[in-house]
Order: sequence, then C-alpha cells, then structure tokens
Amino acid sequence: MLPKQSPERVVRAHQKLTPSLDFLAQYGQWLAGASDEHCDFALGNPQTMPLEGFVTALRDATAPHTPDWYAYKMSMPSSREIIQASLQEITGRDYSPDDIFLTNGATGALMVTMNALIETGDEVIYNSPPWFFYEGMILNSGGVPVAVPVDTKTFELDPAAIEQAITERTRFIIVNSPNNPTGKVYLPETMKAVAAILEAASGRYGRTIYLLSDEVYRKVVYDGAVFESPTNFYRNSIMIYSYGKTLLTPGQRIGYVALSPEMDEREALRTVVFSSQILCGWAMSSALMQHALPELESLSLDVEALQKRRDLFVNGLRDCGYDVQSPEGAFYLLLKTPIADDARFANLLAEEGVFCLPGHVVEMPGYLRASVTATDEMIERALPKFAAVRERCGTANPILRTEVPS
Ligand code: PLP
Repeated sequence: MLPKQSPERVVRAHQKLTPSLDFLAQYGQWLAGASDEHCDFALGNPQTMPLEGFVTALRDATAPHTPDWYAYKMSMPSSREIIQASLQEITGRDYSPDDIFLTNGATGALMVTMNALIETGDEVIYNSPPWFFYEGMILNSGGVPVAVPVDTKTFELDPAAIEQAITERTRFIIVNSPNNPTGKVYLPETMKAVAAILEAASGRYGRTIYLLSDEVYRKVVYDGAVFESPTNFYRNSIMIYSYGKTLLTPGQRIGYVALSPEMDEREALRTVVFSSQILCGWAMSSALMQHALPELESLSLDVEALQKRRDLFVNGLRDCGYDVQSPEGAFYLLLKTPIADDARFANLLAEEGVFCLPGHVVEMPGYLRASVTATDEMIERALPKFAAVRERCGTANPILRTEVPS
C-alpha cells in the first residue's frame, strides 16, 4: 500500500516494481525456511567467497594516504584515466576523461542518465523482456516506457519493430547486451541496422535519439564470442557499466556513465549528467571504491569456469527433459516451465529447496530464469529435484498440465 497522496508518477513506477518486490518478499520467505542444502539460482548473487584480489584491493584502499582520502569524491581524475584507458582497449575509441562519470553501480548510472535526458512525456524504448527496473525508472523520471518485443525465437533485437515504435517523442532506446534475462549477445549487423534507424529518425524529427548501452555483462561472454559495444555503431550513444557483475560483488557499488566521443552537444550533456548525479542523491561511487579501482579494473570472475557451469546446468536440465535456452553471455539460463503458471512451478521447486526466478517477473511468463552464479554442487544437488518436480507436473497432476506456447 502507498500513501493516498503519493504522486501519480511514483505510483505508476511503484506498480512496475511490484512483481519484482513481490518476488523478493517471496524469496525472503523461501530463504528464511531453507535448509543448508538449499540450491539458490534466483538472483545473480555470489554463492562463493569473493575474489581474493578484490578483498586485498579494498583492504589496501581503506588506509588513508592523505587527509582528504575520505573527503567528498566526485569522479576522481585517477578513476577517469583508468576507465579512459580501458575504454580505449575495449572500443578502440578515444573517450575524454571529462565524459566519464563514476556512479554507484549501473542502477545509479541509469537513473542519472534518465534524469538528465527525459523531459516529461518523452518516450523511451526498451526491449522486452527487459531487466526488472527499466520501466519503473523511466516512469519515475517522467518518461513513457515503450516496450518493443525481441524476436521470440532468437531473442535478437527486432529493428523493424524498433523503427515502428519511434515517434517524434522518442528520447532514447535502451539496449542491453549481453542480455539479462535472455542471455543474447546482439549481432553487429543488428546493431548497424538499429543505428541507421536511429540516425534517420533523429534527422527526420530534428531531435537526437540517444542509445543507452547497458553493458554490465560485457565481460561475461561464452564460447569464444567477441563482444563489440553497441556504442561502436552509433555516435549518440551513452555507455552504462557496472563492476558488480565482472567482479561478482554487486553489493559494493561502482560503475559509470560514459558519453561517446563523437556525440552531438557532448559538452552540454556533460554538465547535466554531473548535476544529475548530485540531484539523484550524490549518485557517485564512494571514495573507497574509487581508491581501489586501479586494482579492481583488471580483475574478473572466471568466465571459463562459469561457462563450464552453464554447460553442466544446461545439459543436466536437458537430460531431465527441460527445454532450455543456453545463454551466449550474462549469468542466466532460461527454461520453459512444463506448466504455464511459472509462479506455481517456481513454488513447487522452492518446496524442494530449489530457488529460481519465475519468468513473469521479467515479462517472460512460462519460463524460469536460473543463475549460473551458483556452485557446481548446488547444480548437482538440484538436478534430481528439477527432474522430480517436472515428473510430478507432467504425469501425476493433470490439472497442472497447461500448455506453454513454444
Ligand atoms: N542492468 C542489468 C541488465 C542488470 O542485470 C543489472 C543487475 O542485475 C543492472 C543493470 C544493475 O546493476 P548494478 O547492480 O550495478 O546497479
């Protein structure tokens, strides 16, 4: 329940968060009643101890070298230089340090950018299925979310549908690759097509349509795939990044916004992004995280081990008879639920101590999302339970046998 006088904008944003918040409450109950043997695939949280290098970097960074070590920090010049060098390597492009804004993770980076760009009534295109919070954040910034479904078979972006969705009110599009929840890494030719559409529409309407590239999982790509930043295809792009995925430490908040060097009115935008950081509640990365950044930049979770775990999980589930989408990147695999009611199926698994995210929370009814940030042992332990619950749904209880569209 919200107070009666809550602003309409906040009420509508809250409504969009409701499925996620309800799920989090439910997940809390599952955890509260869980045994030590439970298997947790619900969120992209770590289930193993943090990287040693991460802990050492933070420990070293706590010791002050100067009286202003813990003074107010904005985007520290040292942080900007490190990220500039990293972006040079990743994109081959020369970012200006002044266009890099250290934030409290990607959520902070997204909110700061939305606050800086959206005028009330502006439309923002996001691709569905999306990350949980895009829609609520757009509404909270005064924007109008416009969902464009991805191709249901390949999970690739649909450029023709994006073109159709653009109007004179379109302010930006959010592209998330590698994608949460689908695991899709968008193809370069798709990004080229989208860029051409955005460029033409910007010209047609006399207003820049930006591309927000949420690439928090860019280091988590499998099977030797090469990730090319969507920002490389379109000059009016804004990059959103978080270290929380690469380091598997989402509770220690650090990420950034980076404005593309080729962008229109870049210097003017700089000013509003910086103001927006203050207005969004000093949405900067903490002093400690920025002092640790020189060490953190080169660290990464073991993607090869993650890929092996993905294979163990995907193959194991397929052996149990599940229809599973193996991700090209990011942390999540998707499996079709044998019954249409994914919430009910998730509950049946939870009764066995296996926790997954029901797909309706991320606009994917009829699916479960399971994270590979769990341990191999959890997967081994969970597979017989996945098999048993599937068996029960398929044979013992005909009431449950509702069809899921393929
Ligand atoms: N964008 C996507 C696609 C995500 O999956 C997440 C976190 O799960 C975020 C943004 C938020 O990242 P952060 O924890 O750095 O705020």
